[in-house]
Formats: sequence, C-alpha cells, structure tokens
Amino acid sequence: MRLVLMGPPGAGKGTQAKFVSEALNIPHISTGEIFRKNVTEGTELGVKAKEYMDKGEYVPDEVTNSMVAARLAEPDAKNGFLLDGYPRTLPQVSELDAILDGLDTKLDNCVEITANTDEVVQRLLKRAELEGRPDDTEEVIRNRMVVYARETEPLAAVYEEHGILLKVDGMGEVDEVTQRLLAALGH
Ligand code: AMP
Repeated sequence: MRLVLMGPPGAGKGTQAKFVSEALNIPHISTGEIFRKNVTEGTELGVKAKEYMDKGEYVPDEVTNSMVAARLAEPDAKNGFLLDGYPRTLPQVSELDAILDGLDTKLDNCVEITANTDEVVQRLLKRAELEGRPDDTEEVIRNRMVVYARETEPLAAVYEEHGILLKVDGMGEVDEVTQRLLAALGH
C-alpha cells in the first residue's frame, strides 16, 4: 500500500503514522524526522533545513524533493510506504507523482487527519514541554499553523479530485484514531 498521511501540526500525524505503518507492515517515511536526524548529525542538508525548521517555515521544495526521491528508491519502499509530512506543497504533489511514475507505480490513498485548531495548539504546547523541540515555541507553532493552512490544506482538494482522499477525525484517544484510520483503509 502506498499512502500519504496529512494533517495539521499537532493532529497526531507522526504518532498515527508509526502505528499505521506497523499495522500495515510498510516503512514509515517522515520527512520531518529525516530532517531532524540530519540536523542532529550536522550534515549539509541538516544545516540548510534547520534555518527553515526553526522558524516553522517549509524547507525549499528542491531540497525536500530530492531527499524523498532518494528515499523512495530504497528497496524497502518498493512494495509500499507511508509518507508522513510529504507532500506539503503543490509542487511536491507533482514531484511525488513524477517520482512514482518513474518507479512505475502510483499512490493508493491520501489520508487527511482532521483536527480542532484550539485543541491542536494545546497539544503542541504540551509536546514542547515534554520533548523540547526548537520548533515548538508558541510563536513558531502559530506560524506552522498559518503555513499549513496556506500551503498544505489545499492539497486535500487535489487528492479528492484524484478520487483517493480519505478523511479521518483525529480527535479522541490515540488508539481510537488508529482504529479509525485502519478501518478507513479497509483493515
Ligand atoms: P514535521 O515533523 O512533519 O512536523 O516536520 C518538521 C519540519 O520539517 C517542518 O515544519 C518543516 O520545516 C520541515 N519539513 C518536513 N517535511 C517537509 C516538507 N515536505 N516540505 C518542506 N518542509 C518540510
């Protein structure tokens, strides 16, 4: 199964991606995690990405796209994957289609986790306290919500037009949401 998981910051996308990919036995590919790993390791990619991440902005498409193309060409992604946090812009949607075309395959579904904005901000502030991510200050959180609404929310309509969008309510207990996601995917 080839899936994209999208949803606003704090909707529980990363947590759900982990559970769903385990249940479906497909690799979980999180662009945010790959960026964070590169930041920690101080790679060239990490240095470039950090500048944007710290402000809650998106890393430029060229940087993100080539990273994803390389990751999707790895053998473990051959029979399926769950992309978490990619695509996030319209050019990334086209790039993903082109990457998959080149691999002679296509996406099965895009799953949008929907969430209540106020609740989401509260969740993110709590995560900031627990994990201390540098992009989890209140100002950066608010900016990430604005960027999401402007750049990423419109992608759902594109996938809806392609007939592959599934919407799942992300509010409630973590395992409830996982069950909803798996049910939406026919599991
Ligand atoms: P996430 O862990 O998915 O919330 O991603 C953390 C940060 O990494 C984002 O706020 C962006 O700065 C960057 N990032 C992750 N995925 C992408 C993407 N597809 N395009 C651009 N920037 C991204």
